[in-house]
Amino acid sequence: MARVHNFSAGPAALPTSVLAEIADEMMDYRGCGMSVLEMSHRSSMYQQIIDDAEATLRRLLSIPDNYRVLFLQGGATLQFAGIPMNLMRRGRAGYVVTGNFANKAYKEAAKYGEAVLLASSEDTNFDRIPTMADVNARIAAEAAGDGLDYVYICQNNTIFGTMYHELPACGDVPLVADVSSCFLSQPLDVERYGLIYAGAQKNAGAAGVTVVIVRDGLIADGPAFAQTPQYLDLKTQAAKGSMLNTPNTFGIYVCGKVFRWVEQTGGLAAMAERNWAKANLLYDLLENSKLFHGTAQTDSRSIANVTFRTGDADLDAAFVAGAAEHQIQNVKGHRLVGGMRASVYNAVTMEDVQALATYMKGFEAQHSLSPRSN
Ligand SMILES: *Cc1c(COP(=O)(O)O)cnc(C)c1O
Repeated sequence: MARVHNFSAGPAALPTSVLAEIADEMMDYRGCGMSVLEMSHRSSMYQQIIDDAEATLRRLLSIPDNYRVLFLQGGATLQFAGIPMNLMRRGRAGYVVTGNFANKAYKEAAKYGEAVLLASSEDTNFDRIPTMADVNARIAAEAAGDGLDYVYICQNNTIFGTMYHELPACGDVPLVADVSSCFLSQPLDVERYGLIYAGAQKNAGAAGVTVVIVRDGLIADGPAFAQTPQYLDLKTQAAKGSMLNTPNTFGIYVCGKVFRWVEQTGGLAAMAERNWAKANLLYDLLENSKLFHGTAQTDSRSIANVTFRTGDADLDAAFVAGAAEHQIQNVKGHRLVGGMRASVYNAVTMEDVQALATYMKGFEAQHSLSPRSN
């Protein structure tokens, strides 16, 4: 069995013990004579699986009782529309645009009401999170003026390698966060938010599940628009236990296993410590490198996605191409930024990161010893 050092941004590496358990249970899930793939979502066997997944997640994040946990489909992208459709009651919400996914959510929301641009870091190609004092002042002014249904942020910007290190102060306005690429990377104070959601394929499981955690008071009156598709109606989904229709049964099963793995390997604080150790190994290397440099501003760096480049597109391409010889995969940057990106999610090990660091140092030595003549 040859496993590679996988730095994919998503779908991404899963813990090997989780993969082994899934393989073990594939033909016969715990003596029931069938795979989870073949099981009715209405069976008691399956109900146990989804209940366990939710219970483990509730323990991990200390989710208060007045928050609902949903396992939905359609990716994070469907929630770009689902959030305004459920929460834009007065038709006005504030967006902080810190990258591609935040921008998509902002544009989607503008279809359903007034999306107020609170701040953007587009002027520096999204290499930072805007200054929180400025964001907070803007939120306070909007809240006191025409009002805001919610404030929306993308907490970790997967493509640009930036992350909030401080949340905006929203007062009474609910904070809504796309935490897709930092979910379960570090502790998170659920009570600071009205709604959090995450596509599972980054750090929490397989593609095809979106975890939504929402304060029940926000959805008690049903969606903001009568035309909201039933599937996107969070109140109905909560009442039906994420089983309004057939859920992604297998995906939720995988999530449950990943949640258990996070718990068994020490929980979120331990996870954060390991994740920063991995990311900082690369950030330190970048700071000391004469060839590579990080693309995110220091105080906005991500715990999960380390973005860097050489400044020479040909060298970047040579680095990405050469990585495969070292069993290193998926280090090409997103097409919007170019360069390289190493995603060091929970299941990526320190050994994986060390292998990448060794390759980077070797590549640097090789390319400073023999400067190109052209
Ligand atoms: C990957 C990602 C998305 C898009 O997720 P889909 O599940 O493909 O819709 C949205 N937001 C963030 C922060 C992401 O990392």
